[in-house]
Amino acid sequence: HQDEEKLVEYMDELEFLADTAGATVIKRFTQKLTQPDPKTFIGSGKAQEIRDYVKENEVGTVIFDDELSPSQLKNLEREIEVKILDRTNLILDIFAQRAQTSYARTQVELAQYQYLLPRLTRMWTHLERQKGGIGMRGPGETEIETDRRIIRDRISLLKEKLKTIDRQMATQRNNRGKVVRAALVGYTNVGKSTLMNAISKSEVFAENKLFATLDTTVRKVVIGNLPFLLTDTVGFIRKLPTQLVESFKSTLDEVREADLLIHVVDISHESFEDHIDSVNQILMEINAHQKPMVMVFNKIDDFSYEKKEEDDLTPETRKNISLSEWQKTWMSKSKYPTVFISALTKENFPEMKKLIYDEVLKIHISRFPYND
Ligand code: GDP
Repeated sequence: HQDEEKLVEYMDELEFLADTAGATVIKRFTQKLTQPDPKTFIGSGKAQEIRDYVKENEVGTVIFDDELSPSQLKNLEREIEVKILDRTNLILDIFAQRAQTSYARTQVELAQYQYLLPRLTRMWTHLERQKGGIGMRGPGETEIETDRRIIRDRISLLKEKLKTIDRQMATQRNNRGKVVRAALVGYTNVGKSTLMNAISKSEVFAENKLFATLDTTVRKVVIGNLPFLLTDTVGFIRKLPTQLVESFKSTLDEVREADLLIHVVDISHESFEDHIDSVNQILMEINAHQKPMVMVFNKIDDFSYEKKEEDDLTPETRKNISLSEWQKTWMSKSKYPTVFISALTKENFPEMKKLIYDEVLKIHISRFPYND
């Protein structure tokens, strides 16, 4: 039962991603397998079913929620005879659309080439099929080799370029001196930019789309005469492509080098607990999991609670736990200072500011012990 619920949530998220990328989803397919088929990921019956549907409804693209291996991609395109995207490709595409600075564009381009390199042959299979496959093999192979070389060169060039920018950014971070640095972290679309705007009264792009923020924004914030720097970072997501974790090094360095993490959670989202796990997982991967942290549960204005009489008899679900129950649970469960707010209506802002102030002050005092 719970698996079914999770499945729907994962598909909802994938649909939201597809929507962000500009696609319209008209049909969902799911399949239960103990293990993905190494050749085609899904079973051949399911592939047939999808193929028939695609033909009948003139579907342009089929999107998978997992990363497919290069050969799975190739085999699926051959079987379903339609363009196949996997989750990684989809996320990369969104990042490419959203990258605004040349730094972000360079990062995304690098990740895209890294994704592309082992999958190059796929395009040639198409060509072979279109041209009947006759005589294509020789030149095809040579051209793939040429393409590979060009892409490898491009990858090293992009890496060099990023290294230079990384060094500049590291210097910039060093020049910020001993001022306490706090970083907003959280799953994508939880309200980090909105919160940043509300706290720093600046105008950071906020939108109900995934990954509105790709570049980090740093703002100087003063709470109760205590100045500190606040950074907005790229949103984390379940199964964030590893290529991106690597190429967004500098963006993630803001997190790695922050003194305090402000972990923003969207409590109106059904899977917010999964989101917390995903974020913690990535923090662990970048070795930033032991930093002081404040938990900010956002969007309490949007929390829906539909307790009905008969719910007393049914097992607890997301919908029949009230906000105050969540609060109590999390206040006692979390080892971090925790607050429940709405970045939109600014409800409980004083409490949140006090929490952040206290944490920043602790760090500040440890750094400037002899000042007033
Ligand atoms: P980010 O991806 O974490 O930076 O999230 P954004 O700040 O871009 O916000 C994502 C969406 O959530 C936007 O549509 C916001 O208007 C909305 N949002 C942010 N905070 C709140 C809140 O407290 N309540 C409600 N209802 N919506 C919010």
